[in-house]
Amino acid sequence: MEIHNPEHSDHTGSPDVRTYFSSPFHDESNTAFAQLISDAVRGINSLKPSDRNSSSFLGESPDLTVSRASAQKAVLKPKGEPFSQVLDDIISTFEGLPNWGHPLNMSNICPQENYAAIAASMLTQIFSPNILETEYAWNTSKAELESSAILADMAGWEAEKSGGIFTYGGSGCWMYQMKYALSRVLPDSREKGIRTDVKIICSEQAHYAMLNSADWTGLGMNNIITIKTLPDSNTMDTDDLERVLQECYTNNVPVASVICTMATTDACAFDPVKDVRKLLDRYPNRPEYGKALLYCDAVIGWSWLAFKNYDFELNPHQFSEPVLRSARKNYEAIREIRYADAFGVDFHKNFSPLTSSLFMYRDKDEFENLLKRESSAYLQERGDYNPHNYSLEVSRAASGSMAGWATLKFLGAEGIQHVLIHGLNNKQYMMQELDQYQDMVCVNQSDHGPVLLLRIYTEQTNASEQYSMELQNSDLKNDLVKHNVLIEKVADHLWKWFREKKIIDGKFTPYLSITKGFRPATYNENTTDPEAVIYALKVYPVSTYITRDEMLHAIRCIRSARDEVM
Ligand SMILES: *Cc1c(COP(=O)(O)O)cnc(C)c1O
Repeated sequence: MEIHNPEHSDHTGSPDVRTYFSSPFHDESNTAFAQLISDAVRGINSLKPSDRNSSSFLGESPDLTVSRASAQKAVLKPKGEPFSQVLDDIISTFEGLPNWGHPLNMSNICPQENYAAIAASMLTQIFSPNILETEYAWNTSKAELESSAILADMAGWEAEKSGGIFTYGGSGCWMYQMKYALSRVLPDSREKGIRTDVKIICSEQAHYAMLNSADWTGLGMNNIITIKTLPDSNTMDTDDLERVLQECYTNNVPVASVICTMATTDACAFDPVKDVRKLLDRYPNRPEYGKALLYCDAVIGWSWLAFKNYDFELNPHQFSEPVLRSARKNYEAIREIRYADAFGVDFHKNFSPLTSSLFMYRDKDEFENLLKRESSAYLQERGDYNPHNYSLEVSRAASGSMAGWATLKFLGAEGIQHVLIHGLNNKQYMMQELDQYQDMVCVNQSDHGPVLLLRIYTEQTNASEQYSMELQNSDLKNDLVKHNVLIEKVADHLWKWFREKKIIDGKFTPYLSITKGFRPATYNENTTDPEAVIYALKVYPVSTYITRDEMLHAIRCIRSARDEVM
């Protein structure tokens, strides 16, 4: 049997619309259905290259064929198209898309998808569990409940007292923390609206998702206060935080929440949660307001919690010395998450398909009661897990929670450790190799994340000396700007080569990123001069398929691109 559009076969003369839909019975159409899913997967697999030496996008054609203008002509056709044609059209839209796990894909935050998470999220599309309350979720809510318990335990919280809820992204987690904080600090804001300018405090390197939630909650983006970061570690400067908290305290300006970023995208910097907690206790809100919330934006850094039970002294997995040290630093930093009231987790930043984000809160009674709403007249609660009473969304797909849960179960602590170490090993290797080129310098040697940021200069330049002067000496600002332009040109050239399937030394070229603000020059601490900032090429070598060969090839390609743009 084939999947086809309804025919006018039924005695009334109307089409048999049953054939549009997945059969509820285990009948012969199921065979066709299983075939169809497997055809769809085979179709999308056919876009993957069979050769390792290939471009890191899907399919053959690098062309961008869609535009708003062309898409605006679409209208509903009187007759449906055959299933096979619809499927072909769907698959064709993936042509040219970055192939995230490809060994030449070293772009910013590639969400490589593990098998278990793909299967888990796909299966939730076949039957649609709705994790809004027990009746529509039944046993599938196990994915959300167990993931939350596991993360609570990893964070050193009491799992019975804490809870977690999946949402639409790290930005959704930001939204949850803001709503939690506003409801706690301004209890009557839930009915009367936000009528007080409460402050949201985070470091100047916090993620720009802060703007979305300050804007969409109606609090207003001007109520965000950013705290300086320390020039060497990129972490929140607690002296500056103390100054701000003291000022708020003295002027009776309530603080809704302080956000520690764990870790930042480029520098893998973890803010000092324990110290922030002490400061918040020292400068509390006045009694007419509730207690400020301490939130950790751990959407990238959470996975280091998988080292919780790793014996760094015995080092049973025999990780090499420098990467072991970095893993330990990262674990010791993320461990402070235990002092937070809430934190956010993105499974899609390393391991799972989009979107799979979990907002974790330490005191489930407080959070769930604070945000409680009246039940709807047409929902009956048939069990004890009914997040629709306090969730942001109404219908909640199970795809994200299933993907997250499957990831935790499939990889376990050791799997996560090995994946993270793989990224660190790649960075470490490339950093060592860069030593032999005087015209290139790694600008984040002391960071402990897998990201490698580098600057390249003309072949005759001593990059380390030049960079060090540009970083510190305002007389050299023209040089800094000139070299920022060079780095941007190199990045654009590499992008062009990646899209054009350029071959260098018999191999396709890598897909890299650029950062236009790794840090300000030291004489521009407050970033008052938007030009005196450090640009760098960004290599994010976390795909588990990357080997040393690709790291070496990336260096060759960067140098060739530099030669061409000079
Ligand atoms: C990616 C990221 C976000 C935003 O998360 P989305 O899942 O893209 O919505 C927020 N904070 C940090 C630190 C991030 O890296």
